[in-house]
Amino acid sequence: MQLTDSLGRNINYLRLSVTDRCNMRCFYCMPKEGVVKKQHDAVLSYEELLLIAETSVGIGIEKIRITGGEPLVRSGIVGFLARLTAIPGLRHLALTTNGMLLPEMAADLYHAGVQRLNISLDSLNPATFSEITRGGDLKKVLAGLDAAEQAGFPPPKINCVIMRGVNDGEILSFAEMTRMRGCAVRFIEYMPVVKEEGWQRYCISGEEILKRIAADYPLEPVDKGAFAGPSRDFRIPGAQGSIGIITAVSGHFCSDCNRIRVTSTGQAKGCLFADEKTDLLPCLRPPDRARLAEVLKVIISTKPERHGISCDGYGHRNFTMAQVGG
Ligand code: SAM
Ligand code: SF4
Repeated sequence: MQLTDSLGRNINYLRLSVTDRCNMRCFYCMPKEGVVKKQHDAVLSYEELLLIAETSVGIGIEKIRITGGEPLVRSGIVGFLARLTAIPGLRHLALTTNGMLLPEMAADLYHAGVQRLNISLDSLNPATFSEITRGGDLKKVLAGLDAAEQAGFPPPKINCVIMRGVNDGEILSFAEMTRMRGCAVRFIEYMPVVKEEGWQRYCISGEEILKRIAADYPLEPVDKGAFAGPSRDFRIPGAQGSIGIITAVSGHFCSDCNRIRVTSTGQAKGCLFADEKTDLLPCLRPPDRARLAEVLKVIISTKPERHGISCDGYGHRNFTMAQVGG
């Protein structure tokens, strides 16, 4: 069954956030202080998250990505993932993580049936990494990459947010990872969500990133696979991994958008930057699968045409990426 929205886009992908808590504080994602912890019962239980996942797959969603906050900090996550993989009709289960807990959890995630990991990594320099993440430990994340490989995962996708004057000097080192480690590195444009003082100085376009790589390496375009996201993909000839450019801000990829999002408190969004959200709680407490299916279909059919952010300004209200799941 194919799910299409009012603009004919095929919607087959749900990003499901299981927590807004995190063991890091990346400055572009969360404010340094003042993050209010959600009441325990405000966060959806695993039963409720499972109901959303099953119902979504029932109406035509084929791929689910588990995200957060940091999904691996929620206790019981491995058992929940194993239950997700058992959903008939779910073709792809992926997880986005900051990698800090992978050294001890990668093998369990693999055995639970997670098919692919996206690991966020913005710097290969310990000091810069610690500055961006406000205290994260690069060694642990690199050990997490190794643990994922040893557990049997395919080379991970690396999500790398490039910010001018912070880590743009490392673009070529990340491009090298596609040759040395076979990773798929996805360069993501910095998005102004936290609206930190002077955020404009960080903006660097995907086009510039690509030009800077192309000045040192020949690049060939790569065909997108099934469930491909909105990145434009290239390869350094002979490299096992690919280079993806995600121009979330400078070049709207909204015409190819294939996803909806549900936050850990049960707020569904048709667009990351839309202020509008739909509260799924009335369909979950008490559980009403038929009503939930109808509400999800409405969210898909009324998905906004495009977002309105740019590096000149933006119209959305303040939120943190950790609340929505990126
Ligand atoms: N904690 C996990 C992680 O960091 O991978 C999952 C959640 S995080 C919100 C998901 C993705 O959103 C990460 O790859 C992160 O780099 C990205 N992200 C967060 N804030 C962003 C921003 N302001 N601009 C661009 N990407 C951002
Ligand atoms: Fe945490 Fe991920 Fe946000 Fe960084 S990007 S603060 S790791 S949720």
